[in-house]
Amino acid sequence: MKSNVTSLGNRIFIIDGYDLHMPERTGAYVIVDDDITIVETGPSLSVPHILQGLQELQIQLEDVRNIIVTHIHLDHAGGAGLLLQHCPQAKVYVHPKGARHLINPSRLIAGAKAVYGDTFDTLFDPIYAIPEENVISKGDGDTLQIGQYCELSFLDTPGHANHHMSIYDPISNGIFTGDTLGVRYQSLEENGVPLFLPSTSPNQFNPDAMLSSINRVKKLQVDKIYFGHYSASTNVNEVYTQLQYWLPRFVEEGEKAMRHGKDHTSLSESLVEQISDHLHKKGVSPSHPAFTMIQLDMKICAMGILDYIAERDER
Ligand SMILES: [Zn+2]
Repeated sequence: MKSNVTSLGNRIFIIDGYDLHMPERTGAYVIVDDDITIVETGPSLSVPHILQGLQELQIQLEDVRNIIVTHIHLDHAGGAGLLLQHCPQAKVYVHPKGARHLINPSRLIAGAKAVYGDTFDTLFDPIYAIPEENVISKGDGDTLQIGQYCELSFLDTPGHANHHMSIYDPISNGIFTGDTLGVRYQSLEENGVPLFLPSTSPNQFNPDAMLSSINRVKKLQVDKIYFGHYSASTNVNEVYTQLQYWLPRFVEEGEKAMRHGKDHTSLSESLVEQISDHLHKKGVSPSHPAFTMIQLDMKICAMGILDYIAERDER
């Protein structure tokens, strides 16, 4: 069987979770410290991949102590309940605003059904509630000792969602940023064309909050960013620069679409067009596999942008 585990150095591994049945989409990070710690579970369909990866790393499931989710969107935390059933000693750590939705996922399920429609069942089912005693809230400035020499710290990083936190790891001087610092397209970076795009999913996207969170992370002067999608980059300044470039453009395109009475499908098409133009100038072939993912992402991004503008203009 093909390995789905990659070492990222500094005792950190990523297990590909094949979210949406696609490779290099969403991964679970494993920090092999005194207490085995997993950051992000992906949806339930990723859990068998995580179990296989842990086996490959020769980690006993009883030794998994911490399961951290950056936020409660199902592609990051939907599998936490199922994974916990396999890891009897683990606790689940989550933003204080997310805790009750892990304990009772009904609103989460309804929200995802609104975005994903008919594909919900194949992509996200089942979503198991997590017993209250296994859920621990971590707010801004809180820490978690995972080893003799390592204390992780939690930062409140809204923008993509209000229940979003990032986790700083002092050993690698790196930070797990979920979706707040956007999406990294691994196949493009491997081809020498790094692309980092904001993730503006419904329905709590807020560009001002996102920009503050980006600036806050930037001030930490980390060496590495561990993305929710996908894997890690040491090209950190490029990440900040690109997000600061694309974020206002995304909102501007949304405003234009709104003025002309266009819907999210048409907005997503114009976003894809802008990104394709940019990549074309960098010499990326129009048949590059990254485009499939970009198209998918822009569909969801467009919904969140229009959502944000409509709500903002109502105020
Ligand atoms: Zn995500």
